[in-house]
Amino acid sequence: MRKSTLAPVLLLLGSLALTTSCATDSVPSKADSAPTGGTDRGTDPGGGVDPATIKGLKIVSDNSDDRSCRWAASYPDVPGASSMTDAMKEDVERRLAGFRGEDGSPSAQCADSSGEPGTNGAELNVSFSFLVASGDVLGVRLTTLDRASAGDGLDTRTYWYDGKNEATVSAFEFMTEDSQDAFIAAVQKTLKGKEGADPASLDDTENRTVYLDDMAFNADGALRVDFDRGSIGVPAGGRYTVTLPKATVAPWLSDFGKRVQRRTVRPGAGLDLGAGSTPSATVPTHTADGDDTTDCVEVKCIALTFDDGPATPHTATLLKYLAEYDARVTFFTVGQNVAAHPELVRAEARAGHEIGNHSWNHPDLTRLTPGEIRSQLTRTNAAIKAATGKEPTLFRPPYGAIDGKVRSATTLSPVLWDVDTEDWKHPDASRVAQSVISTVARNEVVLIHDIHPTSVEAVAEILRTLTDRGYHFVTVSHLRATL
Ligand code: ZN
Repeated sequence: MRKSTLAPVLLLLGSLALTTSCATDSVPSKADSAPTGGTDRGTDPGGGVDPATIKGLKIVSDNSDDRSCRWAASYPDVPGASSMTDAMKEDVERRLAGFRGEDGSPSAQCADSSGEPGTNGAELNVSFSFLVASGDVLGVRLTTLDRASAGDGLDTRTYWYDGKNEATVSAFEFMTEDSQDAFIAAVQKTLKGKEGADPASLDDTENRTVYLDDMAFNADGALRVDFDRGSIGVPAGGRYTVTLPKATVAPWLSDFGKRVQRRTVRPGAGLDLGAGSTPSATVPTHTADGDDTTDCVEVKCIALTFDDGPATPHTATLLKYLAEYDARVTFFTVGQNVAAHPELVRAEARAGHEIGNHSWNHPDLTRLTPGEIRSQLTRTNAAIKAATGKEPTLFRPPYGAIDGKVRSATTLSPVLWDVDTEDWKHPDASRVAQSVISTVARNEVVLIHDIHPTSVEAVAEILRTLTDRGYHFVTVSHLRATL
């Protein structure tokens, strides 16, 4: 596969290399007004959910990691709530198809076959957060940032699963049927005081559930309703939020609404959707044999790097292959996946691999404010430290997109790549393997993703062939230190 034209290679040392190497990275920034894709929603109600406690949780991720077509989408797959997973999957796939143009949509934002970058800096990012995961109640918010769309491009939606009735339900069903009119009237009354809002939109009974697609309880039991920009008022009015006190909503709540409220205020025990037999994925137990003493001056070295994970079950499979060849690699992990699978990150570190930071939810960092960039990186560093006891010193900017603002927002050292497998585009193990085997040279950095099973299969072949050719597999920091 061709070498990346974006990246200068391994960004060795010092700011000189950094400032001269990324002249093509000057994506215009609207950062001051740009939302973050939801990562800074410190107001997320019920934000105390630890996803690592959800048994059998899988995070479904699909990212491009290519500047010509910037999209990243993740959503959770929780055992026992398959209808909710299906609903999120459908939502995410529809958005991805619209963005990539696979549905014939005229708004295709990706590069054409000439390989030219996509137009106008388009970017699609879908991330998730757990609102409630306790007892028989599961609540997830999907946050979509579509920079190609009108307005601020931010769209939030909550998904609710009722384990008692084994059904995915809309947030509107927090209310009993008889109370819905009173509830709507109260929301409208609050909206009347907000400039630019159009409360009458909610008179449209057909579309109420569309407008009211983001509802959750706050930690004090109040009900919070979020409206996307432009949904029930002029876009200039921005997002509207209506918060109804606990006492106000109390008489209107359905049985499910009451349970959601109770599980938000007092989460208590973990999630129990009756899927208790779900076996936890096996985590490899390989432990590194002391420090890596490979001398990259004496022998041929390569630094394989794996972005966007950890992912189950692929990362565990990859760890087994790496152990067989005594290979050490670098994982650039995504914070929201680290939080869901700290045990896998711990296994990576224990096996002697290096853990780097690849942001919390994979946005183009050059589009964010300095505060948002810091939040993306420090939150991820904290999750990695919680999992491994050690804070990373390296980061890889999503899409390889980096500029002076990103560099000055962090003390982490950026790492790009020499060989891009483009494995996100080609789910073909032998093609991915050949893209490395046929082009890689001594001391180069290779970009692969451990969220794709075909990429992990390719690694088996890469390890076998390149070991035969005398290569040694080392971490990025090891390569830097011994050159
Ligand atoms: Zn990535």
